[in-house]
Amino acid sequence: MPTPGLDGYVEPWRKPEHDDLAELARSFFTKEVLPHAERLERQGHPDREHYRRAGELGLLGLSIPEEYGGGGGDFTHEATLLHEQTLSGEGSLGIPVHSGIVTGYLNEYGTEEQKQRWLPGLVSGDLIGAIGMTEPDGGSDVQAIRTRAIRDGEDYVVSGSKTFISNGYLADLLVLAVKTDTSARAKGISLLVCELKDGEQGFRRGRKIEKIGLHSNDTAELFFDDFRVPAKNLLGTEGTGFIQMMQQLPQERLVIAVGAVAAMQRALEMATAYAKERQAFGKPLMGHQNTRMVLAEVATRTRVSRIFLDDCIQRHARGELDVTTAAMAKLYLTEGQCEVVDRCLQIFGGYGYTTEYPISKMYADARVQKIYGGTNEIMKELISRAL
Ligand SMILES: Cc1cc2nc3c(=O)[nH]c(=O)nc-3n(C[C@H](O)[C@H](O)[C@H](O)COP(=O)(O)OP(=O)(O)OC[C@H]3O[C@@H](n4cnc5c(N)ncnc54)[C@H](O)[C@@H]3O)c2cc1C
Repeated sequence: MPTPGLDGYVEPWRKPEHDDLAELARSFFTKEVLPHAERLERQGHPDREHYRRAGELGLLGLSIPEEYGGGGGDFTHEATLLHEQTLSGEGSLGIPVHSGIVTGYLNEYGTEEQKQRWLPGLVSGDLIGAIGMTEPDGGSDVQAIRTRAIRDGEDYVVSGSKTFISNGYLADLLVLAVKTDTSARAKGISLLVCELKDGEQGFRRGRKIEKIGLHSNDTAELFFDDFRVPAKNLLGTEGTGFIQMMQQLPQERLVIAVGAVAAMQRALEMATAYAKERQAFGKPLMGHQNTRMVLAEVATRTRVSRIFLDDCIQRHARGELDVTTAAMAKLYLTEGQCEVVDRCLQIFGGYGYTTEYPISKMYADARVQKIYGGTNEIMKELISRAL
């Protein structure tokens, strides 16, 4: 069964195989992961076992070629999975980064040997992936990163630190942005794949960062002090890291946009159900014109957002999603998510502000969508360059 939402809208790219995938994903998230939600929130990171189970069910690496164990699909399959994850309310598993970003880098820029070495483990869930660009001294200005990798024989020697790394507390495999030429800006950046093992010389995980939302998904600091990484772990050639990131960021922004739209849809469904049930002044909230109008506006915003998102997904599936359009999607849909969730929370009155109702968690979780993947101010910069 598809998940058309209240207004019956179905994505134009949707085929029966997406429906089967959505059903499998929904069942996994709701029956196998969500029952542990409270414990995972307290723990501050997902269970490794849930990654393995997702892998066993074939839910990781959906767009990775079958020869590396993947699903052999495309971004529509990744989008279906991510949509269902957000719609179900599951937020512990860092699949958006793991499958939506990291596997993409390896598949696109990895040598045959690198792909054979890492992709099967990521697809099975035995390895957890992360991407490290942001540093304590700055995130928006990626060209100014200071973590350096100096070639020494068959290795690179890496020193520096990264912060806000999603999946960082558990990650086994990190696509790390480093400076191989510290005198250059963009042209000095390279991507190194680091196999992370706790206790290994030169590598240390810092604290798990306490956040206002996304409590069950780990975000961590990572420290490198003369950490040796085999030179054969370089992705592509030295100095091409910035170009690689610029090529992959549209997909990262689309991943964020998929979550944004699914969150709008979920908030709308919750608020509508509540408005039909909660009584005020002798009738359901839905009987008051203002409630109906708010929900009508939210439903319209959600529908328009879904249509724009689907246009982006289709462009991406054709290999035509440009930087400007991806930035527009990230900007418009995450702003929309925050507005829609806020307005839906209002319909719950005081209960919307309590942890008893999931809309409050959605409110806290939504905020970061305007910050990561490039802040929305940076999105406006990118869009303005095309004008
Ligand atoms: C929960 C979470 C998960 C994250 N996951 C990851 C991850 O997995 N990997 C990773 O590498 N990073 C990750 N990040 C980091 C995130 O991408 C950065 O926080 C973000 O890019 C902003 O960088 P910054 O925090 O250093 O802010 P800064 O760059 O210091 O920006 C501060 C403010 O100034 C504004 N600003 C900066 N430059 C300009 C400009 N030129 N014009 C106008 N305004 C500007 C920004 O928009 C922002 O409002 C994550 C962050 C969070 C909170």
